[in-house]
Amino acid sequence: MDFNLTEEQKMIANSAREIAKEFGPEYWRGKEEKGEFASEFWKVISDAGFTGIVIPEEYGGAGRGITELLIAMEELVANGCGLGGQWYLLLTEVMGSISIIRHGTEKQKKKYLPGMAKGELEFCIGLTEPDAGSNTLNTKTTARREGDKWIISGNKTFISGADRAKGMVIVARTTPKEKAQKKTLGLSLFLADLPHPAVEVTPIPKHGVNYSHSCEIGINELELPEDALMPPQDRGWYSILDTLNTERMSFTAAAIGIARLAISKAVEYSKHRKVFGDVPIGSYQALQFPLAEAYATLEAAKLMNFKAASLYDTQAALADVGAVANMAKAVAVENAIKAVYWAMQIFGGYGYAKEYDVERWWREVNLIRLAPITQEMTLNYIGEHVLGMPRSYF
Ligand SMILES: Cc1cc2nc3c(=O)[nH]c(=O)nc-3n(C[C@H](O)[C@H](O)[C@H](O)COP(=O)(O)OP(=O)(O)OC[C@H]3O[C@@H](n4cnc5c(N)ncnc54)[C@H](O)[C@@H]3O)c2cc1C
Repeated sequence: MDFNLTEEQKMIANSAREIAKEFGPEYWRGKEEKGEFASEFWKVISDAGFTGIVIPEEYGGAGRGITELLIAMEELVANGCGLGGQWYLLLTEVMGSISIIRHGTEKQKKKYLPGMAKGELEFCIGLTEPDAGSNTLNTKTTARREGDKWIISGNKTFISGADRAKGMVIVARTTPKEKAQKKTLGLSLFLADLPHPAVEVTPIPKHGVNYSHSCEIGINELELPEDALMPPQDRGWYSILDTLNTERMSFTAAAIGIARLAISKAVEYSKHRKVFGDVPIGSYQALQFPLAEAYATLEAAKLMNFKAASLYDTQAALADVGAVANMAKAVAVENAIKAVYWAMQIFGGYGYAKEYDVERWWREVNLIRLAPITQEMTLNYIGEHVLGMPRSYF
């Protein structure tokens, strides 16, 4: 076990810290208030090669693993970007590039990966449906074969970045649920180019993260060529779980980063704020202990997340990666909620003012409790797949 970062990993972390200095809380406050895509930030991280960290060199990337991407994400988030430091990389590089690297055909890799490595091609993933929610196996979107084409129809919801993306991974049913040999069979993944007249995209007004729009999607008889399918047909559930493990790790990195950011701002503030006498509020144990506890827990979550990343990067079995990735997320997210809660408390009334950014991080951190997987579903996973307890829902 070696807990030291390699020279290259240190360089990635340093570079992320430098970029985050340039795009600090004030920048993101403005973007969020205007509901505007952070194009300047995206250009800088693309030029720095962050959009290609996991993409193999032959397609224009750096050929590194999820470990390096998590390092970049955490440092961007922790050093001032907040969730924005992770979000766009998540949509394009994790949900797009990793899906294609792991499950795409050679033709699909050549078509998409070079543009994604340069940050010229943004991606999104169309998984969640209004009626299925957390139960992906209830996916109603269908893909039917007509000659040499696939015809896709259905509705998706909360698809982030769909209003800008040039491509989307679509999860659709290729065999009806009742005809599938096993309940986990019958789903397939497709790659669609956007925008497209058969795909209606409507942003949903939402609580936070408004530098990215999450959208309702209506897919109405979308015609795709036969090679839009990411093979193997009917086994998309397993492919998507593989990608979702890296999605969990990315959100864990974001949770750790937000906790670090909130704690550092709260510590700084608490050392100067004096209310009773000449003593800073940071000297009160009632305020110190929760920050100390949250800091210790984020360090623990970080080790777990690097373990998940290491398992993934060394091609461990899906279930082994899933177990650690879910446990790390469960711990990191609850802890980040506590960290930001206490940061807000320490800022007193100023914690509620937009100017101090804590309220924005509060809105951001609460999202990670709900997406990409709710905390309850994470705990269900641990109960069922790690502890071997009976499943309580069907
Ligand atoms: C801002 C935002 C961005 C998003 N971006 C994307 C995206 O880009 N692409 C995409 O595909 N999806 C996206 N999502 C969707 C997200 O992944 C889902 O919202 C999430 O998986 C939960 O599904 P749901 O909202 O339908 O909740 P539901 O599944 O309806 O759950 C509702 C509540 O019931 C609980 N619950 C349900 N079943 C159980 C059970 N068996 N045991 C215990 N509790 C249970 C849940 O934990 C939750 O608290 C996004 C969501 C948001 C809010």
